[in-house]
Amino acid sequence: MSKVLIIEDEVAIAELEKDYLEMNDYEVRLTHDGEEGLKAACGEEFDLIVLDLMLPGMDGFEVCKRIREKSNVPIIIVSAKKEDIDKIKGLGLGADDYMTKPFSPSELVARVKAHIARYERLVGQATQSNDIVEIRGLKIDKTARRVTINGEEKAFTTKEFDLLTFLAEHPNHVYTKDELFRYIWDMESYGDIATVTVHIKKIREKVEADTSKPQYIETIWGVGYRFKV
Ligand code: CA
Repeated sequence: MSKVLIIEDEVAIAELEKDYLEMNDYEVRLTHDGEEGLKAACGEEFDLIVLDLMLPGMDGFEVCKRIREKSNVPIIIVSAKKEDIDKIKGLGLGADDYMTKPFSPSELVARVKAHIARYERLVGQATQSNDIVEIRGLKIDKTARRVTINGEEKAFTTKEFDLLTFLAEHPNHVYTKDELFRYIWDMESYGDIATVTVHIKKIREKVEADTSKPQYIETIWGVGYRFKV
């Protein structure tokens, strides 16, 4: 049975979401503020999280960011304000879906179902081919540290390889240049994020058929980069 965590301070909404999910055979844990929700998300395994933005104490933006530091669990954000959804997209916090209140509970159930299925597919692929990441003609052999594009091998430097592999292993997740610099170069980044831009450019020259229309690594203007699923 899939487990869903709901982080929602409005009790009536939380209960309604819980009832509908339980009717559809999900196990549901309810939490009513940001801190409690984050604690539950970090302490237990969930298959999906439904997160409200306006919460007492720690708000949903912060909760989303903190969960993403630890986990790729699907997150559906619900908010009363459409502007919030634009804001969270702009911040690139890594939510998987957004719904504006009021919404129909059956719509929520449908989206929960779709995201859990999609996530299970992604995780299943990752465990089957542990050492090889393969996406639309791009094949990264992590064991041999070799990259081929449509069967043709391309030479990569260590950092180019690490950066491409990191992005490909976290598809559909937007990373800022700062974050990428920290993850790949393993140090605190201040002002040297141009290195990331240079490496992305070199990777694109090797993997993209047309670097002006990237099919793999997408630029999210003003935020960073995302590997397209
Ligand atoms: Ca609220």
